[in-house]
Amino acid sequence: MTHGFYPVIGLEVHVQLSTDSKIFCGCKADVAGDGPNTSICPICAGLPGALPVLNKRAVEYALRLGLALGCDVAPESYFHRKNYFYPDLPKGYQISQYDIPLMKGGSLSILRNGQPQPIAIDKIHLEEDAGSHKRVGNYWCIDFNRCGVPLLEMVTKPVLRSAGEAAQFAKRVRELVRFLRISRGDMNAGNLRCDGNVSIQEIGNDELPEFKWEIKNLNSFNYLERALDKAIDELTAERLSGKQPGYWTLDYDENRNTLRKQRAKENVGQYRYFREPDLLAIEVSDTWKEQVRATMPKLPQECREQLIRQDGLPEKTADDLIQEPDLLEYYEKARDRFKGRAATVANAIQNYLGRLVNETANVQGVQDLGVPPKQFADLLNLIEDEIINASVAEAVLQEMIATGKDARAVVEDGGLTQIGDRGELVDVCKAVLAGNPQAVQEFHDGKPKVFGFLLGQVMTQTNKKADPKVVRELLQELLKG
Ligand code: ZN
Ligand code: MN
Repeated sequence: MTHGFYPVIGLEVHVQLSTDSKIFCGCKADVAGDGPNTSICPICAGLPGALPVLNKRAVEYALRLGLALGCDVAPESYFHRKNYFYPDLPKGYQISQYDIPLMKGGSLSILRNGQPQPIAIDKIHLEEDAGSHKRVGNYWCIDFNRCGVPLLEMVTKPVLRSAGEAAQFAKRVRELVRFLRISRGDMNAGNLRCDGNVSIQEIGNDELPEFKWEIKNLNSFNYLERALDKAIDELTAERLSGKQPGYWTLDYDENRNTLRKQRAKENVGQYRYFREPDLLAIEVSDTWKEQVRATMPKLPQECREQLIRQDGLPEKTADDLIQEPDLLEYYEKARDRFKGRAATVANAIQNYLGRLVNETANVQGVQDLGVPPKQFADLLNLIEDEIINASVAEAVLQEMIATGKDARAVVEDGGLTQIGDRGELVDVCKAVLAGNPQAVQEFHDGKPKVFGFLLGQVMTQTNKKADPKVVRELLQELLKG
């Protein structure tokens, strides 16, 4: 809120749906990494006479989001042609929706001053993506692979009040679409793209401002926030100097933190919308809606509360799990089988598995490690039952991954059972003390830190199998005596 104005922001978010095939043809939809123009057919490449057929799964995915947000689903909605010329748009139009979108209304909450604030959705519709082009040497090259990739376009009402709120909203969208498993939601990969509409409103003046800037293709939460802040500053400066900022489409240069006016914003008339004659209406019956509803997972907010209230996880851990639905699912399955506290499972997943995922090539997530959640829980149960100690758990896990054996088999075959027998350990402890007279002397000179060294020596001597609790007791007794 600066100089008598406050920001009025609306977001337009494009979500790439993770269906197997494209929206109107059988080509695969995930074209990331494909060679240029290798994932196309006459339909998505826009050859004359080719006819589109709607992908039912794309509608289903859209419905999942709509049901999660409480949108009104149109029983019948239509596709339109949005006509414009661009080299990467082979048909000369994009098939989109216009006057009757698939869904209207609904909301998604963000936090405003610590309180949940629903952000109203204007509409959500289905459309196809366009291709891409890039400069190679002296040529502009066009790649049609992305043509026909299914997109959801979600438009909010202009009710966001700061750049930070807009970024927060975008994060909630990402979280939700990943949770619903309808999109990978990866902004870097272009699965989630945000355009921001900004204007500033004079405090105390209810008339809508007669200017608006639209900033295109903001591909990270950070850039989204910075670009909107920049626009708010510049709009405020223009208004204060008595200028009329006008209707513009702008690009944001993230390296220089500058906005560049691209073109005066089109009004819809320039797109010459008309109904797509090659496609039927999208009909959504109540039965279909209910079928989709029956397959809906828990929503992130509800799930977060459960993790904190029922499982006793710290907020940060709960948030981390919510951001990674695969990890969350793994956690839930392991938790249900584990004997001890839920928090132990969450920690172990983050400590052991998280690191392994990061360190192992060709492994995207926990599900690729080859250790099912139940087996991981069994490993933790062995620690809980004091059959093995935590220090050998990691080695056991590595062995489970390498051989596919379950935890108990690895422990039994490898003789890794914890040694808790005092009689067996006391000799090792004595030997370690005898072999490290200098450390013993330092301990008696008042350097308690060497205790850890001595304990470590006993653990090494026993191949980490000794029960550290027993070793600690024994060493303390022996050092006193
Ligand atoms: Zn195709
Ligand atoms: Mn669009």
